[in-house]
Amino acid sequence: MNLARQIERFLPGQLLELVKDISRLAAKRGERVYLVGGVVRDLLLGCPNFDLDLVVEGDAVTLAQEVATAGQAKLLAHHRFGTAKLRYESFTLDLATARKETYARPGALPLVTPGTLKDDLIRRDFSINAMAISLAANDYGDLIDPYQGRSDLERGLIRVLHPKSFRDDATRILRGVCYEQRFGFEFEAETARLLKRDIPTLDTISGDRIRHELEHIFEEDRPELAIKRLAGLGVLQRINPSLKVRGRIAEEFQKARRLRKPGQLPSLYFCLLAYSLSEKDIGQLLTRLNAPSKLSRAVRDTLRLKASLPLLGRVSLKPGHIYYLLREYDPVAIQANTIATNSLTARRHLQLFLTKLRHVRTVLNGEELKKLGISPGPQMGKVLQVLHRAKLDGEVRTRADEKKLVLSLSLRPER
Ligand code: ATP
Ligand code: MG
Repeated sequence: MNLARQIERFLPGQLLELVKDISRLAAKRGERVYLVGGVVRDLLLGCPNFDLDLVVEGDAVTLAQEVATAGQAKLLAHHRFGTAKLRYESFTLDLATARKETYARPGALPLVTPGTLKDDLIRRDFSINAMAISLAANDYGDLIDPYQGRSDLERGLIRVLHPKSFRDDATRILRGVCYEQRFGFEFEAETARLLKRDIPTLDTISGDRIRHELEHIFEEDRPELAIKRLAGLGVLQRINPSLKVRGRIAEEFQKARRLRKPGQLPSLYFCLLAYSLSEKDIGQLLTRLNAPSKLSRAVRDTLRLKASLPLLGRVSLKPGHIYYLLREYDPVAIQANTIATNSLTARRHLQLFLTKLRHVRTVLNGEELKKLGISPGPQMGKVLQVLHRAKLDGEVRTRADEKKLVLSLSLRPER
């Protein structure tokens, strides 16, 4: 099968020219370049994907260096792995030296040696991701599909390439579920059996790698599908025994998407997933995932705030009080509670904080207060706080109101 027409149709002109230039440079060096992985799968499915991975039968790093020198690209090379990233203004290209991998034991990092394209394809996760397209002049556009990926794509099947695949790398369990749910595919019968058999090998995977795959899932359009499926298979529980999917998770994830910009969604999803966990379980989960401090803070704040919701659910709270109750919390934690709480009043207060109160500023600043005779230091801090609170509560509105309040405060004798 030849996919030259699909390549020309789907890839933007500039990207296409670049890829062809790279292939010509490679040919001069006696090397061959292929498109591989997700982009090949998506070309066959007719979905646009500009996230290009190139495999070089030869030396990807030296080739990338030549490309970077010839064009306007920034180069990021990993000599040890034989990989390079070329960063252009509006896109990036990944180049990798074709490699052969052997796994000493489950979950171990593979031993990597240079190999052929076929070696490089057999180390991949699933047949639908193990296809390549040649970019060389003599067979440009030819599909290389040694493991029947196209047929699996047509039949809607997720299939591993060998029985030890999940044992070699159990992150493939998470990846497989992600593709199954994204495309509405099914696991091929033997793959499904191997997957269930090998769920315990998830214990061999580092926290960073598990977290990375969860983040990959959280970038999906509807990650709740994969999350529910992972719970159904017992995969979430293997990561942390207390991790389960609450009945409302789909609805909550949907709400999250309406409220948050895409870049901030993964941490919000994490907080919602962890919402019903105890403090102790949260500690274990964050340790298991080797969560970075920013994520840990959002998740811990979510639970801390959940514990204070009864206070926030009081109808009589004034805006200034709400502000000072919430200002120390991570905004993602506040958002998570807005979505997950059952208390209408608490939700209203949380929303008020996020949309309005946290942006409220006084008109007068330190400089102006100095002119009004307030000395910098603790006194000024106090005055600013009273002023801010009065502004939040609607007691002062204009510059003149603020000035009046400041003067009345400074006339008041110190106690
Ligand atoms: P997506 O659309 O989700 O980005 P992708 O296929 O581009 O899909 P990536 O995570 O970007 O997925 O990985 C690129 C390619 O690298 C995959 O297509 C697959 O062939 C290979 N790959 C990634 N992770 C693994 C893994 N754990 N084991 C084997 N092959 C992998
Ligand atoms: Mg990709």
